[in-house]
Amino acid sequence: MNNASPSGLYVHVPFCKGKCRYCDFFSVTGNELVEPWLHAVCREASLFAEEWGEMDSLYLGGGTPSVLSDEQLAYLLDRLRLQFRFSADTETTIEMNPDDVDTPRMRRLRRMGFNRVSLGVQSFREVELAWLGRRHDGGRARSAIEAVRSAGFDNLALDLMYGLPGQTRGAWEQNLRLALQFRPEHLSCYMLTVEEGTPLGRIHALGRFQPLGEEEVSDLFLFTSRFLEEEGYLHYEVSNFARGAQRISRHNGKYWSHIPCLGLGPSAHSYRAKVRWWNVRSVGEYCRKIASGERPTAGSEELDREQLKLEAVYLGLRTGGGIPLALLENQPHSLGALDRLVREGFLRRDGDRILPTRRGYLVSDRLPLELLP
Ligand code: SF4
Repeated sequence: MNNASPSGLYVHVPFCKGKCRYCDFFSVTGNELVEPWLHAVCREASLFAEEWGEMDSLYLGGGTPSVLSDEQLAYLLDRLRLQFRFSADTETTIEMNPDDVDTPRMRRLRRMGFNRVSLGVQSFREVELAWLGRRHDGGRARSAIEAVRSAGFDNLALDLMYGLPGQTRGAWEQNLRLALQFRPEHLSCYMLTVEEGTPLGRIHALGRFQPLGEEEVSDLFLFTSRFLEEEGYLHYEVSNFARGAQRISRHNGKYWSHIPCLGLGPSAHSYRAKVRWWNVRSVGEYCRKIASGERPTAGSEELDREQLKLEAVYLGLRTGGGIPLALLENQPHSLGALDRLVREGFLRRDGDRILPTRRGYLVSDRLPLELLP
């Protein structure tokens, strides 16, 4: 599927200055492993370079890529560009925390070739930022955005989080309005999920806070979608909004369409030619394996026809592009369920495609289960 499209390259930078209470992404604090990781990741790139063709997206995610120094970032980019063939218009994204951003630094990053910045703002409200365990405050979030803009970046993505305990629609709308003042090209609005094993998960298990109810969360989701569409954004994936189709995240779009992506670094996932594999979730083990000439793979799976189809339906119905009707052909159960879901307002047909409605996005995890026997 889609093996002809240019691939994407993801680099997982597994370092954070501190852990946010809600986060279950793989990252460690402290910087003693940064240099060993940097050399290991460059070496891992060299293990794969021959096997991958043209790439048109490079995404530094984490963790917190902005904890790397400018020299380390420049070294990493240089090495990746030596190993892989990137198209001239490659979308080159770096995820950054607001407290790592200032205008001179952003100018340097732009000169290195980054052309898209994804800022983990989460909120502009002090009380929410403190509750989430973020290190920045609202003023820092605003000055970071201004720094990105004044350095000349014209592709800015902001991450915001909603569905916090006690959060009203008015408070959330205020956050959205503050974000819109900067006319970001892209917004990711993530609903808070309480993950087991995180500090938030532990205090939730102790009954220390009451998450928002299902109805309140649904109301916030539908409000967000309506509000941002009225402001000119395209709601193109459950949690993602773009100011026009050309601002859709090229890199993330590859994950939703089974386009080959190579992931480097601890815990990074890769996909190509029906095979998915993932790296060990430990910086030390990752560095040791690379040093001994081994690939740092922790596991892999080959997807059969049925699994590919299920994933295509699952991923497709999370996006505005939906799925081709052909995926459900010759299956009376699926066509019956489709008619019902269209009548109930969760899906709609557009020519030979099936698209999720706004309410469909809200239950996108359930739709494949209803459509496929
Ligand atoms: S949310 Fe981001 S900055 Fe916070 S711990 Fe997770 S990866 Fe690190």
